Amino acid sequence: MERVLVTGGAGFIGSHFVKRILRADDIAQVTVLDALTYAGHIENLGEAFLSPKLAFIHGNILDAGLVEALVREHTAIVHFAAESHVDRSFFAAGTFLSTNVLGTQTLVDAAMRHGISKFVHVSTDEVYGPLPQGSATEADPLRPTVPYAASKAASDMVALSYFHTYGVPVCVTRSSNNYGPHQHPEKIIPLFATRLLRNQQITLHGQGQHVRNWLHVEDNCAGIELALRAGVPGDVYNIGGGTDFTNKELTDRILRLCGADWDSVTYVPDRRSNDLRYSMAWTKLAGLGYRPEHDFEDGLAETIDWYRRSPDRWAPLTRNPHAARVTAAAPAAAGEESHAH
Ligand code: NAD
Repeated sequence: MERVLVTGGAGFIGSHFVKRILRADDIAQVTVLDALTYAGHIENLGEAFLSPKLAFIHGNILDAGLVEALVREHTAIVHFAAESHVDRSFFAAGTFLSTNVLGTQTLVDAAMRHGISKFVHVSTDEVYGPLPQGSATEADPLRPTVPYAASKAASDMVALSYFHTYGVPVCVTRSSNNYGPHQHPEKIIPLFATRLLRNQQITLHGQGQHVRNWLHVEDNCAGIELALRAGVPGDVYNIGGGTDFTNKELTDRILRLCGADWDSVTYVPDRRSNDLRYSMAWTKLAGLGYRPEHDFEDGLAETIDWYRRSPDRWAPLTRNPHAARVTAAAPAAAGEESHAH
């Protein structure tokens, strides 16, 4: 019976993952370690607290003493905790490097001393950088172009170095853009939905030509669980299989679901660094049995419906003082608005 430490479990993907693995009979204990930054919300775990298997620790992955004590009590680690918003990394790269790189090193260093059975490091397709055509495999070089992606690429390398050097059973997962309920409203789908539901304008960068692969958060969590259970130590697994859309195609769907039209959209100059297209092959994880199950149109409709029903959850976040501080410290270029993941 595994005792799993989940970092960042009060965030968007981590909280879905916690609810998923709490249902597994062979998992005896799930402990969430989360610093509850502006992006972490205890409410995301909601009904998970009904489970006697769940414990929540409010703390920082950079706290080596705390991490050491927690890792000692667990048999596996799934590491989601990160600064995750690209646009914030333009203004606060040091925080991204500290949390994403040194935080990962703190965890994997403790894992080295305590003989855990698996360390899953959760990463992103953005580490491969833009691909005008074709799809990245796990063997491809990393070419991150923004500080967020660079910090994730570095954290992937640090985690894997502990496999090669010390034999820590690390697997890295790299997924495409996730969507689903209770994502922070700074990310594009909730940002657009929450604005349109309040009859506000939304802005589209450039001509809306950027291509992203949209994967339901539950499909990503299924892939991460598979890596936890069956991933080969030292291996990297791409988690794709969502639906490719340009931002304009995505916007069209969000507009319709929110009962709005293109009069609500203002085109603005492109963001300062905005990779045109990401794409990954995910045959390696498919070889372990991974199959994405969620239809995008249904998943998006359910997601927008959640935002329509839950203004109590997201409205306070749209007035986040931390967001204001970051913007005040380094104003965005004219017309620039945050909506990357
Ligand atoms: P999120 O921003 O919603 O959640 C991050 C969580 O980490 C929050 O609960 C936050 O409080 C916590 N956290 C941040 N710094 C911490 C620290 N120092 N100590 C402890 N906890 C800390 O992020 P998300 O969208 O759920 O992403 C989770 C992971 O998945 C990240 O590693 C991200 O890079 C990766 N990822 C996300 C996507 C996506 O589309 N959202 C896609 C690919 C990969």
